[in-house]
Amino acid sequence: MPPTPGSVSFVGAGPGDPDLLTLRAVRALEAADVVIHDRLISAEILALAGRGARLIDAGKEGFGPSTPQAEIHAMLVASARSGARVVRLKAGDSGVFGRLDEEIEALEAAGIRYEIVPGITSAAAAVAAIGQSFTRRGRNSGVRLVTGHDAKGFADHDWRALARPGEVAAIYMGKRAARYITGRLLMHGARAETPVTVVENASRPEERVLSTTLAALPDALEAAGLSGPAVILLGLAPRSARAEVHVPEPAVAWEAFL
Ligand code: SAH
Repeated sequence: MPPTPGSVSFVGAGPGDPDLLTLRAVRALEAADVVIHDRLISAEILALAGRGARLIDAGKEGFGPSTPQAEIHAMLVASARSGARVVRLKAGDSGVFGRLDEEIEALEAAGIRYEIVPGITSAAAAVAAIGQSFTRRGRNSGVRLVTGHDAKGFADHDWRALARPGEVAAIYMGKRAARYITGRLLMHGARAETPVTVVENASRPEERVLSTTLAALPDALEAAGLSGPAVILLGLAPRSARAEVHVPEPAVAWEAFL
């Protein structure tokens, strides 16, 4: 008899700190036979997988070497077909720039059951790190999650809407696109002094916060030479830096929010 077909849990691993996993994510990891994970998943989180679990790195880097998506689909289907409980572990929330739909479609085509376990997206951790909120009464009635680049290159957006005063957006995968994004926004009327905060390695011990303005963003990023994953928060300044504005002291660009 063929083995009972297994199933796949798409699990959001959160931004990096294991404390920010959901209980459901931890339980799925503990019960997993196979964990197929992204490159951004920290070792402490992988350590939560059951002792017998097989860990497979399906690492992907923005512009670097990567496992072809078709290979990931094939791995998911083959592992589930062998009867395994498969955890597909993705950074943050699987539904945010995670190519979740493509993987679900591959499972549906193969008739494999799946569930989605939501996770804390990195932008939520970034906003929390700077003591801010995504939305605020009287400032913005909505927030956008945008990507700096997509399959075709630098991503296109509704620049006019993003350029409006008070607008808040979390830009994922935006480091390389920062100069382009700044140019587009200024061209569409954004104020040069719009606050912008870059949070690198949100929730991890190496977390760094760069507080700058829209016009200064590309040079600030270049000077900082960030190497880790970073979210660019358009329209938000760290709460404490905002307080600094009232203090007649030179602003410090880098701050550790530990
Ligand atoms: N699904 C993920 C996003 C995947 S796209 C989520 O919900 O967070 C990869 C991008 O996520 C990175 O380029 C970076 O912009 C962002 N990112 C992931 N982890 C991060 C972290 N700990 N700190 C800051 N940005 C992070």
